[in-house]
Amino acid sequence: MHIVHVAVEMAPIAKVGGLGDVVTSLSRAVQDLGHKVDIILPKYDCINLSSVKDFQHHRNYFWGGTEIKVWSGKVEGLSVYFLKPQNGLFWTGCIYGCRNDGERFGFFCHAALEFLLQSGFHPDILHCHDWSSAPVSWLYKDHYVHYGLTNTRVVFTIHNLEFGAPLIGKAMEYSDKATTVSSTYAKEVAGNPVIAPHLHKFHGIRNGIDPDMWDPYNDAFLPISYTPDNVVEGKRAAKEALQQQLGLKKLDVPLVGIITRLTVQKGIHLIKHAIWRTLERGGQVVLLGSAPDPRIQNEFVGLANQLHSSHGDRARLVLTYDEPLSHLIYGGSDFILVPSIFEPCGLTQLTAMRYGSVPIVRKTGGLYDTVFDVDHDKERAEAAGYGPNGFSFDGADIAGVDYALNRAISAWYDGREWFNSLCKQVMEQDWSWNRPALDYLELYHAARK
Ligand code: ADP
Repeated sequence: MHIVHVAVEMAPIAKVGGLGDVVTSLSRAVQDLGHKVDIILPKYDCINLSSVKDFQHHRNYFWGGTEIKVWSGKVEGLSVYFLKPQNGLFWTGCIYGCRNDGERFGFFCHAALEFLLQSGFHPDILHCHDWSSAPVSWLYKDHYVHYGLTNTRVVFTIHNLEFGAPLIGKAMEYSDKATTVSSTYAKEVAGNPVIAPHLHKFHGIRNGIDPDMWDPYNDAFLPISYTPDNVVEGKRAAKEALQQQLGLKKLDVPLVGIITRLTVQKGIHLIKHAIWRTLERGGQVVLLGSAPDPRIQNEFVGLANQLHSSHGDRARLVLTYDEPLSHLIYGGSDFILVPSIFEPCGLTQLTAMRYGSVPIVRKTGGLYDTVFDVDHDKERAEAAGYGPNGFSFDGADIAGVDYALNRAISAWYDGREWFNSLCKQVMEQDWSWNRPALDYLELYHAARK
Protein backbone atom coordinates (compact mmCIF):
# COMPACT_ATOMS: atom_id res chain seq x y z
CA MET A 1 0.00 0.00 0.00
CA HIS A 2 1.18 3.56 -0.64
CA ILE A 3 0.45 6.02 2.16
CA VAL A 4 1.13 9.76 1.96
CA HIS A 5 1.02 11.86 5.11
CA VAL A 6 0.34 15.56 4.69
CA ALA A 7 1.56 17.06 7.95
CA VAL A 8 2.87 20.32 9.37
CA GLU A 9 5.06 18.70 12.05
CA MET A 10 7.60 15.92 11.90
CA ALA A 11 10.03 14.82 14.62
CA PRO A 12 12.85 15.53 15.07
CA ILE A 13 13.26 18.28 12.45
CA ALA A 14 9.97 20.15 12.87
CA LYS A 15 8.43 19.07 16.17
CA VAL A 16 6.27 21.08 18.52
CA GLY A 17 4.47 18.28 20.36
CA GLY A 18 3.13 14.76 20.08
CA LEU A 19 1.79 15.21 16.53
CA GLY A 20 5.35 15.51 15.22
CA ASP A 21 6.42 12.36 17.06
CA VAL A 22 3.45 10.40 15.78
CA VAL A 23 3.90 11.33 12.10
CA THR A 24 7.46 10.02 12.18
CA SER A 25 7.05 6.97 14.39
CA LEU A 26 3.79 5.70 12.88
CA SER A 27 5.28 6.11 9.39
CA ARG A 28 8.41 4.19 10.34
CA ALA A 29 6.36 1.36 11.82
CA VAL A 30 4.12 1.09 8.74
CA GLN A 31 7.12 1.28 6.41
CA ASP A 32 8.81 -1.49 8.41
CA LEU A 33 5.76 -3.66 7.73
CA GLY A 34 6.58 -3.41 4.01
CA HIS A 35 4.49 -0.45 2.83
CA LYS A 36 5.55 2.67 0.94
CA VAL A 37 5.24 5.85 3.00
CA ASP A 38 5.91 9.45 1.93
CA ILE A 39 5.56 12.60 3.99
CA ILE A 40 4.83 16.07 2.62
CA LEU A 41 5.96 18.88 4.91
CA PRO A 42 6.30 22.66 4.55
CA LYS A 43 9.90 23.77 4.12
CA TYR A 44 10.06 26.05 7.15
CA ASP A 45 13.08 28.32 7.41
CA CYS A 46 13.54 27.03 10.98
CA ILE A 47 14.10 23.37 10.00
CA ASN A 48 17.52 22.04 10.90
CA LEU A 49 18.48 20.60 7.52
CA SER A 50 21.71 19.07 8.75
CA SER A 51 19.76 16.03 9.97
CA VAL A 52 18.09 15.52 6.57
CA LYS A 53 19.94 12.94 4.48
CA ASP A 54 20.22 13.13 0.66
CA PHE A 55 18.65 16.58 0.71
CA GLN A 56 18.24 17.75 -2.87
CA HIS A 57 16.19 19.92 -5.16
CA HIS A 58 13.41 17.78 -6.63
CA ARG A 59 11.29 19.99 -8.92
CA ASN A 60 9.41 23.28 -9.23
CA TYR A 61 5.76 23.77 -10.07
CA PHE A 62 3.13 26.48 -10.04
CA TRP A 63 -0.11 26.59 -8.17
CA GLY A 64 -2.49 29.57 -8.10
CA GLY A 65 0.12 31.88 -9.60
CA THR A 66 2.76 30.98 -6.99
CA GLU A 67 5.89 29.05 -7.76
CA ILE A 68 6.55 26.20 -5.34
CA LYS A 69 10.01 24.70 -5.04
CA VAL A 70 10.20 21.10 -3.84
CA TRP A 71 13.12 19.40 -2.14
CA SER A 72 13.35 15.76 -1.21
CA GLY A 73 15.32 14.03 1.51
CA LYS A 74 15.35 11.27 4.11
CA VAL A 75 14.48 11.81 7.76
CA GLU A 76 14.84 8.83 10.09
CA GLY A 77 14.75 6.61 6.99
CA LEU A 78 11.52 8.15 5.69
CA SER A 79 11.09 9.85 2.34
CA VAL A 80 10.04 13.49 2.81
CA TYR A 81 9.04 16.15 0.27
CA PHE A 82 9.54 19.70 1.46
CA LEU A 83 7.33 22.34 -0.18
CA LYS A 84 8.54 25.90 -0.32
CA PRO A 85 6.03 28.32 -1.84
CA GLN A 86 7.82 31.43 -3.06
CA ASN A 87 5.25 33.70 -1.38
CA GLY A 88 7.12 33.51 1.94
CA LEU A 89 4.37 31.78 3.95
CA PHE A 90 6.91 29.53 5.67
CA TRP A 91 9.74 32.03 6.11
CA THR A 92 8.46 33.18 9.45
CA GLY A 93 10.93 31.61 11.86
CA CYS A 94 8.26 29.42 13.44
CA ILE A 95 5.95 26.48 12.80
CA TYR A 96 2.84 27.89 14.49
CA GLY A 97 2.09 31.27 15.96
CA CYS A 98 1.52 33.53 12.95
CA ARG A 99 -1.69 35.50 12.75
CA ASN A 100 -2.44 33.84 9.38
CA ASP A 101 -1.71 30.20 10.35
CA GLY A 102 -5.06 29.17 8.82
CA GLU A 103 -4.11 30.69 5.48
CA ARG A 104 -0.54 29.30 5.64
CA PHE A 105 -1.62 25.71 6.25
CA GLY A 106 -4.64 25.96 3.92
CA PHE A 107 -2.26 26.98 1.14
CA PHE A 108 0.10 24.15 2.07
CA CYS A 109 -2.68 21.52 1.85
CA HIS A 110 -3.71 22.76 -1.57
CA ALA A 111 -0.08 22.85 -2.71
CA ALA A 112 0.46 19.28 -1.43
CA LEU A 113 -2.46 17.89 -3.45
CA GLU A 114 -1.31 19.82 -6.52
CA PHE A 115 2.17 18.35 -6.06
CA LEU A 116 0.76 14.80 -5.98
CA LEU A 117 -1.35 15.49 -9.06
CA GLN A 118 1.39 17.14 -11.09
CA SER A 119 3.91 14.44 -10.09
CA GLY A 120 1.60 11.61 -11.12
CA PHE A 121 1.40 10.08 -7.62
CA HIS A 122 -1.59 7.83 -6.93
CA PRO A 123 -1.44 7.04 -3.20
CA ASP A 124 -3.87 4.51 -1.77
CA ILE A 125 -4.21 6.56 1.40
CA LEU A 126 -3.87 10.26 2.13
CA HIS A 127 -3.42 10.64 5.88
CA CYS A 128 -3.98 14.12 7.33
CA HIS A 129 -3.69 15.36 10.90
CA ASP A 130 -5.57 17.84 13.11
CA TRP A 131 -6.95 21.17 11.92
CA SER A 132 -3.70 22.08 10.18
CA SER A 133 -3.94 19.47 7.42
CA ALA A 134 -7.71 18.86 7.72
CA PRO A 135 -8.36 20.80 4.44
CA VAL A 136 -6.75 17.91 2.50
CA SER A 137 -9.95 15.91 3.10
CA TRP A 138 -12.38 18.29 1.44
CA LEU A 139 -9.98 19.66 -1.18
CA TYR A 140 -9.48 16.06 -2.30
CA LYS A 141 -13.17 15.12 -2.32
CA ASP A 142 -14.38 18.41 -3.88
CA HIS A 143 -11.65 18.89 -6.45
CA TYR A 144 -8.72 16.54 -6.83
CA VAL A 145 -10.74 13.34 -7.12
CA HIS A 146 -12.19 14.87 -10.29
CA TYR A 147 -8.84 16.10 -11.60
CA GLY A 148 -7.23 12.71 -11.97
CA LEU A 149 -5.98 11.96 -8.46
CA THR A 150 -8.50 9.13 -8.36
CA ASN A 151 -8.95 6.10 -6.16
CA THR A 152 -7.32 7.53 -3.05
CA ARG A 153 -8.95 7.32 0.38
CA VAL A 154 -8.59 9.95 3.06
CA VAL A 155 -7.84 9.11 6.70
CA PHE A 156 -7.99 11.91 9.24
CA THR A 157 -6.47 11.74 12.73
CA ILE A 158 -7.42 14.02 15.62
CA HIS A 159 -4.47 14.51 17.95
CA ASN A 160 -6.22 17.20 19.98
CA LEU A 161 -9.80 18.36 19.58
CA GLU A 162 -9.12 21.53 21.53
CA PHE A 163 -7.79 23.39 18.52
CA GLY A 164 -9.68 24.24 15.31
CA ALA A 165 -12.94 22.36 15.97
CA PRO A 166 -14.78 23.76 12.90
CA LEU A 167 -12.03 22.52 10.55
CA ILE A 168 -11.95 19.18 12.37
CA GLY A 169 -15.73 18.88 11.97
CA LYS A 170 -15.45 19.41 8.22
CA ALA A 171 -12.66 16.83 7.93
CA MET A 172 -14.75 14.35 9.96
CA GLU A 173 -17.43 14.71 7.33
CA TYR A 174 -15.19 14.40 4.27
CA SER A 175 -12.73 11.71 5.36
CA ASP A 176 -13.34 8.01 4.70
CA LYS A 177 -12.09 7.01 8.15
CA ALA A 178 -11.21 9.08 11.18
CA THR A 179 -9.22 8.23 14.25
CA THR A 180 -8.13 9.72 17.48
CA VAL A 181 -5.17 8.68 19.55
CA SER A 182 -6.64 6.48 22.31
CA SER A 183 -9.88 4.62 22.89
CA THR A 184 -10.72 6.45 26.10
CA TYR A 185 -10.27 9.85 24.43
CA ALA A 186 -12.47 8.59 21.58
CA LYS A 187 -15.18 7.85 24.15
CA GLU A 188 -14.65 11.16 25.95
CA VAL A 189 -15.19 13.18 22.75
CA ALA A 190 -17.92 10.99 21.23
CA GLY A 191 -20.66 13.40 22.30
CA ASN A 192 -18.96 16.46 20.83
CA PRO A 193 -21.16 17.94 18.08
CA VAL A 194 -18.35 17.75 15.49
CA ILE A 195 -17.75 14.06 16.23
CA ALA A 196 -21.16 12.65 17.17
CA PRO A 197 -22.61 12.41 13.62
CA HIS A 198 -19.61 10.39 12.41
CA LEU A 199 -19.14 7.71 15.05
CA HIS A 200 -19.63 4.93 12.47
CA LYS A 201 -16.22 5.75 10.94
CA PHE A 202 -14.42 6.99 14.07
CA HIS A 203 -11.89 4.81 15.94
CA GLY A 204 -9.51 5.20 18.86
CA ILE A 205 -6.01 3.83 18.19
CA ARG A 206 -3.44 4.59 20.83
CA ASN A 207 -0.13 6.13 19.87
CA GLY A 208 3.13 4.31 20.31
CA ILE A 209 6.70 5.47 20.69
CA ASP A 210 9.56 4.68 18.38
CA PRO A 211 11.80 2.24 20.26
CA ASP A 212 14.84 3.23 18.19
CA MET A 213 14.45 6.96 18.68
CA TRP A 214 13.85 6.40 22.41
CA ASP A 215 16.27 3.71 23.48
CA PRO A 216 18.20 3.80 26.78
CA TYR A 217 20.54 1.16 25.38
CA ASN A 218 21.54 3.47 22.56
CA ASP A 219 21.09 7.06 23.67
CA ALA A 220 23.88 9.58 23.19
CA PHE A 221 22.42 11.78 25.93
CA LEU A 222 22.77 9.19 28.70
CA PRO A 223 26.01 8.51 30.59
CA ILE A 224 25.72 4.72 30.30
CA SER A 225 23.56 2.34 28.28
CA TYR A 226 21.02 0.25 30.07
CA THR A 227 18.41 -2.44 29.54
CA PRO A 228 15.92 -3.92 32.04
CA ASP A 229 18.77 -6.11 33.32
CA ASN A 230 20.90 -3.21 34.57
CA VAL A 231 18.15 -0.63 34.97
CA VAL A 232 19.16 0.21 38.55
CA GLU A 233 22.75 0.95 37.63
CA GLY A 234 21.76 2.81 34.43
CA LYS A 235 19.24 5.01 36.18
CA ARG A 236 21.59 5.75 39.06
CA ALA A 237 24.22 6.99 36.59
CA ALA A 238 21.63 9.07 34.71
CA LYS A 239 20.31 10.57 37.95
CA GLU A 240 23.80 11.61 39.01
CA ALA A 241 24.50 13.11 35.58
CA LEU A 242 21.22 15.00 35.74
CA GLN A 243 21.92 16.29 39.25
CA GLN A 244 25.40 17.32 38.16
CA GLN A 245 24.23 19.06 34.97
CA LEU A 246 21.52 21.04 36.74
CA GLY A 247 23.57 21.83 39.85
CA LEU A 248 21.39 19.78 42.22
CA LYS A 249 22.82 18.04 45.26
CA LYS A 250 23.74 14.39 44.66
CA LEU A 251 21.16 12.96 47.05
CA ASP A 252 19.72 9.46 47.10
CA VAL A 253 16.08 10.62 47.30
CA PRO A 254 13.07 10.12 44.99
CA LEU A 255 13.35 12.34 41.92
CA VAL A 256 10.16 13.46 40.18
CA GLY A 257 10.53 14.63 36.56
CA ILE A 258 8.03 16.71 34.60
CA ILE A 259 8.41 17.29 30.83
CA THR A 260 5.60 19.27 29.30
CA ARG A 261 4.15 22.18 27.40
CA LEU A 262 3.01 24.48 30.19
CA THR A 263 -0.63 24.97 29.25
CA VAL A 264 -3.87 24.67 31.18
CA GLN A 265 -4.46 21.25 29.56
CA LYS A 266 -1.39 19.88 31.32
CA GLY A 267 -2.71 20.67 34.81
CA ILE A 268 -0.57 23.66 35.74
CA HIS A 269 -2.03 24.07 39.23
CA LEU A 270 -1.46 20.37 39.92
CA ILE A 271 2.12 20.59 38.67
CA LYS A 272 2.83 23.50 41.02
CA HIS A 273 1.30 21.70 43.96
CA ALA A 274 3.20 18.49 43.19
CA ILE A 275 6.51 20.39 43.17
CA TRP A 276 5.93 21.66 46.71
CA ARG A 277 4.60 18.32 47.97
CA THR A 278 7.60 16.42 46.58
CA LEU A 279 9.98 18.86 48.30
CA GLU A 280 8.02 18.54 51.53
CA ARG A 281 8.49 14.77 51.34
CA GLY A 282 12.24 15.16 50.96
CA GLY A 283 12.38 14.48 47.20
CA GLN A 284 13.93 16.31 44.27
CA VAL A 285 12.05 17.81 41.32
CA VAL A 286 13.12 18.66 37.78
CA LEU A 287 10.70 20.38 35.45
CA LEU A 288 11.43 20.92 31.76
CA GLY A 289 8.71 22.94 30.14
CA SER A 290 7.88 25.91 28.05
CA ALA A 291 4.72 27.98 27.95
CA PRO A 292 3.37 29.37 24.70
CA ASP A 293 1.50 31.97 26.79
CA PRO A 294 3.96 34.61 28.09
CA ARG A 295 1.89 35.16 31.26
CA ILE A 296 2.26 31.49 32.22
CA GLN A 297 5.93 31.55 31.26
CA ASN A 298 6.46 34.56 33.57
CA GLU A 299 4.64 32.84 36.43
CA PHE A 300 7.00 29.89 36.12
CA VAL A 301 10.07 32.12 35.87
CA GLY A 302 8.96 33.60 39.20
CA LEU A 303 8.51 30.14 40.70
CA ALA A 304 11.89 28.99 39.33
CA ASN A 305 13.63 31.92 41.02
CA GLN A 306 11.80 31.34 44.28
CA LEU A 307 12.74 27.64 44.28
CA HIS A 308 16.30 28.41 43.32
CA SER A 309 16.76 30.37 46.53
CA SER A 310 14.58 28.27 48.86
CA HIS A 311 15.39 24.75 47.54
CA GLY A 312 18.35 25.24 45.20
CA ASP A 313 19.80 21.81 46.03
CA ARG A 314 16.58 19.92 45.32
CA ALA A 315 14.50 21.67 42.65
CA ARG A 316 15.25 22.96 39.16
CA LEU A 317 12.82 24.39 36.62
CA VAL A 318 14.23 24.60 33.08
CA LEU A 319 11.82 26.77 31.12
CA THR A 320 12.70 26.03 27.56
CA TYR A 321 12.42 23.32 24.93
CA ASP A 322 15.44 21.02 25.19
CA GLU A 323 15.37 17.60 23.53
CA PRO A 324 18.75 16.32 24.87
CA LEU A 325 17.84 17.32 28.44
CA SER A 326 14.49 15.54 28.08
CA HIS A 327 16.36 12.27 27.44
CA LEU A 328 18.45 12.69 30.60
CA ILE A 329 15.32 13.47 32.65
CA TYR A 330 13.53 10.37 31.33
CA GLY A 331 16.62 8.35 32.28
CA GLY A 332 17.43 10.00 35.62
CA SER A 333 13.97 10.36 37.19
CA ASP A 334 12.33 7.80 39.43
CA PHE A 335 8.89 9.13 38.51
CA ILE A 336 7.46 11.15 35.63
CA LEU A 337 4.38 13.15 36.56
CA VAL A 338 1.62 13.81 33.98
CA PRO A 339 -1.37 15.35 35.80
CA SER A 340 -3.27 16.46 32.67
CA ILE A 341 -6.80 17.84 32.82
CA PHE A 342 -7.36 16.02 29.54
CA GLU A 343 -4.89 14.04 27.44
CA PRO A 344 -5.75 12.56 24.02
CA CYS A 345 -2.94 9.99 24.31
CA GLY A 346 0.19 11.41 25.92
CA LEU A 347 3.64 10.25 24.91
CA THR A 348 5.52 11.36 28.01
CA GLN A 349 4.25 8.49 30.16
CA LEU A 350 5.14 5.97 27.44
CA THR A 351 8.65 7.34 27.00
CA ALA A 352 9.04 7.40 30.78
CA MET A 353 8.29 3.68 30.94
CA ARG A 354 10.73 2.93 28.11
CA TYR A 355 13.40 4.52 30.35
CA GLY A 356 12.27 2.68 33.49
CA SER A 357 10.65 5.74 35.11
CA VAL A 358 7.36 5.11 36.85
CA PRO A 359 4.48 7.29 35.63
CA ILE A 360 2.19 9.19 37.99
CA VAL A 361 -0.84 10.33 35.99
CA ARG A 362 -4.39 11.56 36.12
CA LYS A 363 -6.87 9.01 34.81
CA THR A 364 -7.93 10.67 31.59
CA GLY A 365 -7.78 9.81 27.88
CA GLY A 366 -4.69 7.89 26.84
CA LEU A 367 -3.20 8.16 30.32
CA TYR A 368 -6.04 5.97 31.57
CA ASP A 369 -5.45 3.45 28.75
CA THR A 370 -1.72 3.08 29.33
CA VAL A 371 -1.08 3.50 33.05
CA PHE A 372 -2.36 0.84 35.44
CA ASP A 373 -2.21 1.66 39.13
CA VAL A 374 -0.15 -0.76 41.20
CA ASP A 375 -2.76 -0.70 43.97
CA HIS A 376 -5.98 -0.68 41.97
CA ASP A 377 -5.66 -1.81 38.38
CA LYS A 378 -4.22 -5.33 38.38
CA GLU A 379 -7.17 -6.86 36.55
CA ARG A 380 -7.53 -4.05 34.05
CA ALA A 381 -3.77 -4.25 33.34
CA GLU A 382 -3.94 -7.97 32.71
CA ALA A 383 -7.00 -7.63 30.49
CA ALA A 384 -4.99 -5.16 28.40
CA GLY A 385 -2.04 -7.55 28.22
CA TYR A 386 0.19 -5.53 30.54
CA GLY A 387 1.06 -5.51 34.23
CA PRO A 388 0.55 -2.72 36.78
CA ASN A 389 3.00 0.07 35.95
CA GLY A 390 2.32 3.28 37.85
CA PHE A 391 0.25 5.47 40.12
CA SER A 392 -2.92 7.28 39.11
CA PHE A 393 -5.63 9.56 40.46
CA ASP A 394 -9.07 10.75 39.44
CA GLY A 395 -9.94 14.26 40.56
CA ALA A 396 -8.26 17.25 38.90
CA ASP A 397 -7.55 18.73 42.31
CA ILE A 398 -4.91 18.84 45.01
CA ALA A 399 -6.39 15.90 46.93
CA GLY A 400 -6.21 13.84 43.74
CA VAL A 401 -2.58 14.51 42.93
CA ASP A 402 -1.62 14.06 46.60
CA TYR A 403 -3.28 10.65 46.65
CA ALA A 404 -1.09 9.31 43.85
CA LEU A 405 2.11 11.24 44.62
CA ASN A 406 2.14 10.32 48.31
CA ARG A 407 1.69 6.63 47.57
CA ALA A 408 4.45 6.78 44.94
CA ILE A 409 6.96 8.52 47.19
CA SER A 410 6.13 6.27 50.15
CA ALA A 411 6.62 3.20 47.95
CA TRP A 412 10.07 4.51 46.98
CA TYR A 413 11.11 5.08 50.62
CA ASP A 414 9.53 1.91 51.99
CA GLY A 415 10.68 -0.75 49.56
CA ARG A 416 13.65 -0.06 47.35
CA GLU A 417 13.78 -3.63 46.14
CA TRP A 418 10.11 -3.60 45.22
CA PHE A 419 10.52 -0.22 43.53
CA ASN A 420 13.52 -1.41 41.51
CA SER A 421 11.58 -4.42 40.30
CA LEU A 422 8.73 -2.09 39.28
CA CYS A 423 11.21 -0.03 37.20
CA LYS A 424 12.37 -3.20 35.47
CA GLN A 425 8.79 -4.28 34.89
CA VAL A 426 7.67 -0.99 33.31
CA MET A 427 10.74 -1.01 31.10
CA GLU A 428 9.84 -4.44 29.78
CA GLN A 429 6.37 -3.36 28.65
CA ASP A 430 5.95 -2.80 24.93
CA TRP A 431 4.56 0.68 24.18
CA SER A 432 5.94 0.77 20.66
CA TRP A 433 3.88 0.84 17.47
CA ASN A 434 3.93 -2.97 17.15
CA ARG A 435 0.26 -3.29 17.99
CA PRO A 436 -1.21 0.07 16.90
CA ALA A 437 0.53 0.04 13.48
CA LEU A 438 -1.40 -3.14 12.70
CA ASP A 439 -4.61 -1.40 13.76
CA TYR A 440 -3.82 1.46 11.36
CA LEU A 441 -3.16 -0.96 8.52
CA GLU A 442 -6.47 -2.66 9.17
CA LEU A 443 -8.13 0.76 9.10
CA TYR A 444 -6.36 1.71 5.83
CA HIS A 445 -7.60 -1.54 4.29
CA ALA A 446 -11.13 -0.93 5.58
CA ALA A 447 -11.05 2.58 4.08
CA ARG A 448 -10.35 1.05 0.67
CA LYS A 449 -13.33 -1.33 0.76
P1 ADP B 1 1.49 17.27 23.58
O1 ADP B 1 1.53 16.82 22.14
O2 ADP B 1 0.12 17.62 24.07
O3 ADP B 1 2.49 18.34 23.90
P2 ADP B 1 2.49 14.58 24.21
O4 ADP B 1 2.71 13.90 25.52
O5 ADP B 1 1.67 13.87 23.19
O6 ADP B 1 1.91 16.04 24.53
O7 ADP B 1 3.91 14.88 23.52
C1 ADP B 1 4.85 15.72 24.10
C2 ADP B 1 6.20 15.46 23.48
O8 ADP B 1 6.99 16.65 23.54
C3 ADP B 1 6.99 14.39 24.21
O9 ADP B 1 7.82 13.74 23.26
C4 ADP B 1 7.84 15.20 25.22
O10 ADP B 1 9.03 14.53 25.58
C5 ADP B 1 8.13 16.43 24.40
N1 ADP B 1 8.31 17.69 25.17
C6 ADP B 1 7.35 18.42 25.79
N2 ADP B 1 7.89 19.53 26.35
C7 ADP B 1 9.22 19.48 26.09
C8 ADP B 1 10.32 20.34 26.41
N3 ADP B 1 10.15 21.48 27.09
N4 ADP B 1 11.55 19.99 25.96
C9 ADP B 1 11.73 18.83 25.27
N5 ADP B 1 10.73 17.99 24.93
C10 ADP B 1 9.49 18.31 25.34
